[in-house]
Amino acid sequence: MIRLQKVTRLYSRGEAPIRALDEVSLEIPHGEFAAVTGPSGCGKSTLLNILGGLDRPDSGEIWIGDLPLHRARDAALTRYRRHDLGLIFQFFNLLPAMTVEENVELPLLLRGDPPKKTRPRVAETLELVGLTARRHHFPHQLSGGEMQRTAIARALAGRPKLLLADEPTGNLDSGNAARVIETLLKIASQKIATLVIVTHSEELARLAPRHIRMLDGKITPPYPQ
Ligand code: ADP
Ligand code: MG
Repeated sequence: MIRLQKVTRLYSRGEAPIRALDEVSLEIPHGEFAAVTGPSGCGKSTLLNILGGLDRPDSGEIWIGDLPLHRARDAALTRYRRHDLGLIFQFFNLLPAMTVEENVELPLLLRGDPPKKTRPRVAETLELVGLTARRHHFPHQLSGGEMQRTAIARALAGRPKLLLADEPTGNLDSGNAARVIETLLKIASQKIATLVIVTHSEELARLAPRHIRMLDGKITPPYPQ
C-alpha cells in the first residue's frame, strides 16, 4: 500500500513559492494500477519523483508499505530504489554501446545479483515485453517503441513492487505508443507490480482502475471520491 498524507512540496520562485504539491493525500493499494493526468505544470512529475524517493516533501508523510519515505535514511532509500522500485521516463536512457539484453541486465548486476540468477530473469522479462527476438540488437537498431519496451523490461527485471512511469509514450508516434500502452496494460492486468503512470493517453487513463486528476498541485476532485 502506498499512502500519502498531506504531502506538500514547495519551490521558491522569486517572492512567492510555488506549491508543486499542495497537501496531497491518497492511497493506492498493492497491485493497483493508477493513471495520473493533468495539465503541464500541475505537479505530476513532482508527485512521481517523491514516490520514487528522488525528491522529498517539505511536509507531510509518504509511506510505501511500512517504509516512511519522508524520513528514510540514505541506506534505506538506496535499498528501496534498487529492490522495490522500477522507473520509466519519457526518454529511454538506454546505454548505446550495450545490447537490449545487456541494458536490461545491468541494474541487476550492479545491485549484486549473480549472473546465474539474472540471465533467466532477463530472458523472462524480455519475453513479457515481446522483445526476445531483439535481444542482441543495439538501441540504435530499435524503433522508439522497442526502446521504451526495453526500458520497461529494465525497470521490471528486478521484480520491483512499484513501477513508476512519467509520460512513457510522450516521445512516441501513435503506432509505437499503442504497443507500449499494450505492454503496460499487460503488466497491470497480471498485477506484476503496483503501477503509477503519468500519461496524456486517454486510453490508459480510461482503462486504469484509478484515475488521479491533478490541477495546481492538488488532486481534483478530492481523492478517493
Ligand atoms: P508536471 O509534471 O505536471 O508538468 P511538475 O511536477 O514538473 O509538473 O512541476 C510542478 C510545478 O513545480 C511547476 O510550476 C514547475 O514549474 C515547478 N517546478 C518543478 N520542478 C522545479 C524545480 N526543480 N525548481 C523550481 N520549480 C520547479
Ligand atoms: Mg512532468
